[in-house]
Amino acid sequence: MLPDGIGVVIGSKILGRPLSGKVAGIEYGETLLSRCASEGRTVFFLGAKPGIAEKAAENLMVKYPGLNIVGVNDGYFKDSAPIIDKINSLSTDVLFVCLGAPAQELWMWENVKKLNIRLALGLGGSLDVFAGTVRRAPEFFVNHGLEWFYRLIKEPWRAKRMLKLPEFLILVVLRRLFCGGR
Ligand code: UDP
Repeated sequence: MLPDGIGVVIGSKILGRPLSGKVAGIEYGETLLSRCASEGRTVFFLGAKPGIAEKAAENLMVKYPGLNIVGVNDGYFKDSAPIIDKINSLSTDVLFVCLGAPAQELWMWENVKKLNIRLALGLGGSLDVFAGTVRRAPEFFVNHGLEWFYRLIKEPWRAKRMLKLPEFLILVVLRRLFCGGR
């Protein structure tokens, strides 16, 4: 699992096992794609609104010559079975599941045994950023652990979801106090 949020980084410090920093899913994803390009691995994108994954694939194949994105599917489907068949029939090595949290984690958990792939990873709204329809937070926000704040300003409907962050930190503090951080 990636520490893709400042909350996890703060939590690790409170528990006395500090992580060296946040690893943004989108950066990890992009590094992985450049490795896939150089090592000849096949990639499949699942998620986002119709047309977005195609555009993301188009942009990334220009950016990383040799990158082999063998298929895409939007994230607004009812039946997973045909999508799983498609992923398997295209000999996919790496599957990006971009359905938002926690839907993507639940989808992977439910379907991992049916997928004949090497790696699946959940990367939220990354395809929107790769496609160029959503902009990532400016560097200042990213470097100061304030990406969540930028997203809150841009997408105020996230407020309810973000209330989970203080709830998470309270649980971490309680764990530290009563279980010594284990
Ligand atoms: N999405 C999807 N299917 C759904 C709901 C959402 O494919 O049923 C996509 C949505 O279009 C967007 C991504 O999931 O591209 C969620 O992005 P968000 O930035 O909210 O991800 P998170 O913050 O959960 O990582």
